[in-house]
Amino acid sequence: MRGLRSPWRAYALLGGLVALTVQVVPQGPVHDGLFVVTSCGAGIATAVGARLHRPQRASAWWLLAAGLGAWALGDVAYWLCWWVLDLRGFPGPSDVFYVAAYPLLAAALLRLAKQARPGRDVEGGIDAAILVVGCGLLSWTFLIAPTLSGFGADPLGAAVSVAYPLGDVVVLGALVRVFAAAGHRSLAFRLLASAAVVMLVADSVYQYATSFGSYDGSGFDWLWQASYVLWGTAALHPSMRRLSDPAPTQGATEFSTGRLLVLTGASLLAPATLALQLLLGLPPQVWAVVAGSTVLFLLVVLRMHALLGRVREQAAQLADLARTDPLTGLLNRRSAGAELQRLGDRAQLDDTHLVVGLLDLDRFKVFNDTHGHPAGDRLLVGAATAWRTALAGTGVALARWGGEEFAVLAAGITPARMERLLADLRAVVPQGQSFSAGLAVWDGAEPLDALVARADTALYAAKHAGRACTRTADRGAGSVHSAA
Ligand code: GH3
Ligand code: MG
Ligand code: MG
Repeated sequence: MRGLRSPWRAYALLGGLVALTVQVVPQGPVHDGLFVVTSCGAGIATAVGARLHRPQRASAWWLLAAGLGAWALGDVAYWLCWWVLDLRGFPGPSDVFYVAAYPLLAAALLRLAKQARPGRDVEGGIDAAILVVGCGLLSWTFLIAPTLSGFGADPLGAAVSVAYPLGDVVVLGALVRVFAAAGHRSLAFRLLASAAVVMLVADSVYQYATSFGSYDGSGFDWLWQASYVLWGTAALHPSMRRLSDPAPTQGATEFSTGRLLVLTGASLLAPATLALQLLLGLPPQVWAVVAGSTVLFLLVVLRMHALLGRVREQAAQLADLARTDPLTGLLNRRSAGAELQRLGDRAQLDDTHLVVGLLDLDRFKVFNDTHGHPAGDRLLVGAATAWRTALAGTGVALARWGGEEFAVLAAGITPARMERLLADLRAVVPQGQSFSAGLAVWDGAEPLDALVARADTALYAAKHAGRACTRTADRGAGSVHSAA
């Protein structure tokens, strides 16, 4: 027997049999006694699952066991009251336990969600709120408000009766969080989610039937039975250990099409509620719909705001990536071109110098060949870091022009000052390496390309003169004079 070798199969089989038996046993002490068997069984199965599989963070499962335990106590109290003590009023002692189960179940689900997705998740929270408010409005209109009016002058009865659909809304919110958080849709996850959904359906159908019709209380028993067995089977299945595994996509909540559809549906629950009331000929709960749709609308706007914030953040990250060189983090050649344009405009406005320097590491190929390409990379990063520090606060822009070539750009600086700064940069190149540099000062009229070309020519002259030195291009003349 395969089923008896794995505890979860054995339990599901046995639980299923008892649940079926409940269906054929007529209302009475045996029927209600079997209810006690399934609820106690679910609580015990959950505790056994937590001991057996030892998930890394077991607290959620112990909370679940406590919630199911509260239900079992409720069933025991109900049985005693009805069949031993002859206390058959509502609310009764069993309701205390039944109602207590909801916060425990919700806490268990929320803890599972938190374990799967630690950290803040504002967007996921708003999504859950949208679903809870939409379904809450539905619950208020068709379950809570009719129940309240049905109890009239019995405030305790009304409060206890309403506690059930309210508890359902809370559990629904927690369930939504689990759905959004759990990365892995294991069998345990599907069993757990089914248990919660079946329970919510059973509760809602029961509440609706009792407040709108004459209901004898037995037609939906199998739903609760099924829910009990599903909770227990989820906890006994080995994949329960993976339920609280951190989701693979951490960080911001993914905004999938499915999620968008669900949120759209939830947002449309407000007009749908009103339409349903009119179609069913029920007195419309106008103020509830007004309040519900207002809150829903504000939540959707809040969601848009959060999404917009994320789009802005990502745009800034992308812009940053497009501007910088990935190895050194300096401006890349493209953004150096834009910076040169900006500095040119400034130099023209302020009538000051625009100075461009091109720096090229000397015999870098030899360095690479000797120490290896990764060491070459480290030298580039080291030089960039040292130069950035040396130039901090000077107003000189530093860029990686390409390969082992860098550019310094500045407006409002004298060529002599730039030469002194280059001397400072020479002193801080790591590993005793040197560079050659060509400087050019803008004549105020030439295209900026021509300015850069003159700096390049000056760099070539510096290389020709033996490297490790700076040459400055003559203004617009294409000839070069030595400068250190
Ligand atoms: P010179 O003094 O004439 O400038 O000699 P050089 O060897 O520095 O010049 P050359 O242009 O012959 O070689 C440049 C070398 O820079 C060749 C290339 O492999 C190396 N290089 C370019 N980009 C990178 C890089 O990102 N990482 C590393 N490690 N090497 C690079
Ligand atoms: Mg070189
Ligand atoms: Mg080069």
